[in-house]
Amino acid sequence: MDRRKVSSIALELTAYCNQKCAYCYNEWRDDGGQSIGYTESEKLFARIDRLLEAFELDHVTVTGGEPFAHKDVFRLFDRLEAAKVPIQIISNGGLIDDALAARLKGYDVRYVQCTLNAPSAELHADLVGGDGHFEATLEGVRALKRNGVPVVGCVVVTKKNAHLVSDILALWHELGVRQIAMSRFSPAGYATRAVAELLPTRDEMTVAFEQALPWARERGMRMSCTMPIPPCAVETERFAPIKFGSCPIGTSMQELALGPDGKLKNCTLHKTAIGGAADILEVDDLRALLDAPEITEYRKRLPAFCEGCIHASSCGGGCGAAAEWVLGDTKATPDPFLWQHIDDELAARLEDERTRASSSKQRRRLDVVA
Ligand code: SF4
Ligand code: SF4
Repeated sequence: MDRRKVSSIALELTAYCNQKCAYCYNEWRDDGGQSIGYTESEKLFARIDRLLEAFELDHVTVTGGEPFAHKDVFRLFDRLEAAKVPIQIISNGGLIDDALAARLKGYDVRYVQCTLNAPSAELHADLVGGDGHFEATLEGVRALKRNGVPVVGCVVVTKKNAHLVSDILALWHELGVRQIAMSRFSPAGYATRAVAELLPTRDEMTVAFEQALPWARERGMRMSCTMPIPPCAVETERFAPIKFGSCPIGTSMQELALGPDGKLKNCTLHKTAIGGAADILEVDDLRALLDAPEITEYRKRLPAFCEGCIHASSCGGGCGAAAEWVLGDTKATPDPFLWQHIDDELAARLEDERTRASSSKQRRRLDVVA
């Protein structure tokens, strides 16, 4: 069987995670993954074997949930090594110790990407859902560095930490990490409920990029922004050499996502299964999924707002997954990151949600005092 080329697939090994990040795009984060349940390793490997048979991959991204919470993660790495597929890993780092990092060193791992959202424990804990995770991530990153495993640092930039980006980068620098993914918060799944609280404005993102710039220009950090920033919202060219990408769905750079339930999706943030297949084990020829309209038609639709824009063919309106989660359709409007500045209704909805959240916080404080 001739395999078809696919840049990458994100393998969501497990629905379980030891953190509960407010910005998590997993739909099942609310119940800790129980609605998805545990996938037997043999079933997971059967799905992955089918993908490896059907597609010629540049690499895979192993993620979750927390991938190191899966008991057979190293059996998966063995399979990927045997198939000569390079591995990238997204982890919160909290379960990584020296023994695990030393074992990982033996594999063709391009990097492990870990996230720090604050320069100190309190705000990080607030964003990732509990105390102790800040120190655990730092320990995980140190163990990886000690054992010579490449680390990419990530900062999920939200309304709460955009003004702290320079301090967070200083911490990554101190840890010896020089490659950084700035991930602008894009609401999806569990985090859709936190859109008002976390979605940064364009001014807040501008502050974040201004703070990042000296680290990219003068201190040798290689930086990219891993979520689209529509160029009509922020003049991204000002921030070179920080690299800005756009949504890769429907291009040769697309990273598909295999959910822990067996669905193959357009990306980790998207809801729907390509070709309507509830589990790829039920599909006769996976290669045909690349011809499904979810992929081939994706770039043909453009939000009416974007008609005539010179950036339309690359930007396409920004993150369609976030538009679907927040506004109900991938392409009826552009990305909510931009739309909050254009549409009075969305702006009022977000303001209203923020006001309600802040008065309920105040009420909780008064209850404690009383
Ligand atoms: S395509 Fe739409 S969102 Fe992107 S830059 Fe143009 S108008 Fe803005
Ligand atoms: S819809 Fe596009 S931009 Fe949004 S997360 Fe998916 S791949 Fe990225």
